[in-house]
This record gives sequence, structure tokens and C-alpha cells, in this order.
Amino acid sequence: MILTVTLNPSMDSIYFAETFILGEMNRCSNPIKAVGGKGINAGRTAAILGSDVTVMSVLAGTNGELIRNALEQEAFKSVFIPIPGESRNAVTIMDREKNQTEIVELGPVITVETAQKVLANVIDFSFTQQKRPIIALCGSANTKNERLYQDYLQQLYEQLGAEVKILTDISGQQLKNVLQGTIKPYFIKPNIHEFAELLSLSIVNKQEVIRQLTHPILQDIPFILVSCGGDGAVAKYQGRIFDVTIPAINSINPTGSGDATVGGIAFALDQGLSIEETLRYGMACGMSNALEQAVGYVSVENVEALKNNIVLQEI
Ligand code: ADP
Repeated sequence: MILTVTLNPSMDSIYFAETFILGEMNRCSNPIKAVGGKGINAGRTAAILGSDVTVMSVLAGTNGELIRNALEQEAFKSVFIPIPGESRNAVTIMDREKNQTEIVELGPVITVETAQKVLANVIDFSFTQQKRPIIALCGSANTKNERLYQDYLQQLYEQLGAEVKILTDISGQQLKNVLQGTIKPYFIKPNIHEFAELLSLSIVNKQEVIRQLTHPILQDIPFILVSCGGDGAVAKYQGRIFDVTIPAINSINPTGSGDATVGGIAFALDQGLSIEETLRYGMACGMSNALEQAVGYVSVENVEALKNNIVLQEI
């Protein structure tokens, strides 16, 4: 059982334009419209692989209704938390050269009341399940409370017990705060840029990531995956370090690959698979997502085929 939480889902419009010229009128065909949100994408990935998944989403206004309608058609179960305001829009423009321009709204503010409502829902949900779910907190929230996720971790451990596995896919100051708290998440997945930002260092390759995995801020986190796009990833699991290499693919749209990776990891953890299989699933899901035009989708056939070509080197 997997529960993902998305505090800031979006209505996404992806425009494919021949050219995109700043300051000029750019005509293009109708966009692909889709629901966006890290927890939604991760949840969809795990559900496609066969997990029992519930996706909890905070929704607001007319966009919230559109998101709700779309999520009701999905293969996972949903819990909706209505709040005032308007769920955000995110616009992506892809030109012929594959340049990607994004306009992403901040989204409704997560107030203290909303934060408490979400937490109460997560706890209630977890108690109604036969087994504690794996909980994935995905996406940084639009809130003045930089300690929001730190507070969630504290409360969830206190209420659900220390054995609960909490995965966090957040970045920036919110990730920094979580790592400085006393209660650590079970798993984090910064990409290489987020990892560099976290440590306030310039890190451009896997060797440098490997060197920094002993950084004190990363202590006591059982499972760290630093994803490196087409270069694969570096992982640290219970003190063991892996350099994970992936084969080259003809990537179509890698947006959401990190979310798919989190979905694949959550699936494998839920199945109780070995760390090696877990890493293979994470990578194969990220790659499978990159092979789709849609964001946050994987194909079981591609995942199973790609998984066999991932090379793990323990360091
Ligand atoms: P994020 O989407 O969070 O920035 P990454 O870009 O690192 O995360 O992607 C996560 C994973 O998805 C990578 O570790 C890799 O397995 C896969 N992936 C992403 N981009 C590509 C690509 N261009 N080619 C092959 N695999 C990719």
C-alpha cells in the first residue's frame, strides 16, 4: 500500500511550437492538457506497475475541479482535500530545437489550517489500512512555513510509529530543513542540481556526487538517490554506495522522470524487493517516462525490458 501526497497539483498545458521567440506573437497548435503534480505522477507510476495506490491531492477552485475529474478516471484511488483559492496552471512550450520554456504559477498558499487538515487525513487514512502505507510526500509546497515537512515527519513518526517509511521528493530550503530536523525521512531523491543546491556546492558529475555522500547533513538517512538524468544515478543505501549506469535511449520527454523514479522506488519498497532490484525499478521507470510524450507515464513492458540493462557498481 502506497499513499502519495501532493500539496500543489497543477493543470498543465504543453504547447509544441515550431519556434518560440521571446517578445513576439508565437502561434502554435492546441496544447496537450494534463494534470501535473509530483505525487500524482509517482502514484500513477506505482499503480501502473501494480501497487495498491492512493493519491491525496489538495484542490482549489475551477482548476481543482478539472484535476478532480481527471484523477477520478485514473487507475489509483484518490483522496481530495478542498481548500480556498485556485489550483495552479503550468505552461510548457517545447520548440523544434527541444528548448523547453516553462511558466509555473505558485499555486494556493498552504495555510496552517490546510497543513493540519492534510496531516489529519494522512493519519486517518493510515489507521484505516491493514498495514501502514509507504507515504510519499512529493513536491515543495507554497507555504511560509519552511518547517512544514519537518513538522509532518515529526507528527507522522509520533502518531504512526517509527517503522513508517516516509519518502520525500522535495527540494530547496524545505529539503534542507527536513534534513536538519531530528526525524529523518527514509528516502530522498534530489536530482544532481538539487543535490548541489542542498550542499551549496558546484557539483557537475557523478564522481563529485559520490564524494559528497558522506556530507554530515546526509547522515542517518537510510536511502539517498541522487538522480543524474541520462547519466543514471548515484545511490547510498544503509551505508552502501552504488554507481548506477543506464543505457542511452532516444528520450522524447524527460519531464516527470524523477517522479516516475520515485514511483518505481515506492513500488519496489512496497514489494519488499532487494536494493539492487529497487534501484533498477527506479531507473527503468525514469527512462520509461522519458520515452513517452506524456508526463508521468510508464509502460510495464518498457520498464521490464529496460530494467535488465541497468548496471550497478557497488563502490
Ligand atoms: P528529475 O526529473 O527529478 O530532474 P532526473 O532528470 O535525474 O530527475 O531523472 C530521473 C531518472 O530518469 C534518471 O536517473 C534516469 O534514470 C531517467 N532519465 C531522465 N532523463 C533521462 C534521459 N534523457 N535519458 C535516459 N534516462 C533518463
